[in-house]
Amino acid sequence: MKQIYLKKGKEESLLRFHPWIFSGAIHHADEGISEGEAVRVVSATGDFIAVGHYQQGSIAVRVLTFNDVEIDTSFWRSRLASALQMRKVIGLANSKESDTYRLVHGEGDNLPGLIIDIYGHTAVMQAHSIGMHLCRKEIATALVDVAKGIIDNVYYKSETTLPFMEPENGFLVGGSEENIGTENGLKFRVDWLRGQKTGFFVDQRENRALLEVFSKGKRVLNMFCYTGGFSVYAMRGGAQLVHSVDSSAKAIELTRSNIELNFPNDSRHEAFCEDAFKFLDSIGRENSSTYDLIILDPPAFAKHRGALHNALKGYTRLNQKAFEKIPAGGILFTFSCSQVVTKDHFRNAVFTAAALAHRKVRILHQLHQPADHPINIYHPEGEYLKGLVLYVE
Ligand code: SAH
Repeated sequence: MKQIYLKKGKEESLLRFHPWIFSGAIHHADEGISEGEAVRVVSATGDFIAVGHYQQGSIAVRVLTFNDVEIDTSFWRSRLASALQMRKVIGLANSKESDTYRLVHGEGDNLPGLIIDIYGHTAVMQAHSIGMHLCRKEIATALVDVAKGIIDNVYYKSETTLPFMEPENGFLVGGSEENIGTENGLKFRVDWLRGQKTGFFVDQRENRALLEVFSKGKRVLNMFCYTGGFSVYAMRGGAQLVHSVDSSAKAIELTRSNIELNFPNDSRHEAFCEDAFKFLDSIGRENSSTYDLIILDPPAFAKHRGALHNALKGYTRLNQKAFEKIPAGGILFTFSCSQVVTKDHFRNAVFTAAALAHRKVRILHQLHQPADHPINIYHPEGEYLKGLVLYVE
């Protein structure tokens, strides 16, 4: 294995198991290291520190292990087995009610650059680093081996995450037309081919279940609905009506089809292909065109730190509009999935929105990502999803 030599003192965060090595920490490297290659990282004094995937850019090495080992089949098998074991312990990998869950959550599962979501017997695998892309076949083989009886097919989907590599989407192992996943007994069509991320947002499973409890008899507005996850739960929860809004026609089509799959011919649901901000402007507060439960689950407003300030303004503006339109006694489920927006940032943006709308607001729940999206304790950057359930007077 070729080596990368750190500058003096730059091993400190690695000795605390942080899994990233920034390019500025590197003193020099062996000749001829190629993109995505596994490298040995050593300190200025020549001590072994870690093994990881090298890639040009600000994060130069993503650490795979702090042990001096080869990255081979047995490495992948042991990491994947450990990820699967954790999902068994939390009751997801063997649940009849939910066969839709995240098996590998990057740094949270000590596999930086790799995401694997499970839908029934199919794993959808996504690489976020060149190293993981190069290892995709080995990982897929190790996965079906380790998860015998659970996973038969592995679909690779990295066209959007590594566009410069031009990777082809397709099955690496097996093949299946079956594309319906079950979540808490509800069915969802998963569009591996064209859908966002791995085709479905599995990270909202527990928050959707909570929403179901709040839905009885309510007029529910699900903004940024995508596949209609929250809408389907609201229907089962006994909502009086459910309106789903998304600016993408494809998302509206998916939402309609998921409602139909679970609640055929149920006239309580309607979907609107519209901009969320415009839709909120068009509704009333006290009249019949209002909603007493609103969900705001927008895409990440900030994809990097430089966009933080504008993102916070965006969250404030969006939440202010909802506060202005929700009647007294209404409930707001509001989320941010931007990794650079912390819990405190988000809460502050929502607080500002409430104040601007002159509403009295109580926090009922503080929500976050579920256990199958674990946070590596040494990598707090892995915490990304946060939400608030608010009671508005
Ligand atoms: N709540 C969803 C996930 C939302 S993903 C779930 O539970 O699965 C974000 C969605 O917001 C995408 O479907 C995207 O098409 C939509 N979107 C982005 N900008 C929008 C806008 N300005 N108005 C309405 N929808 C928008």
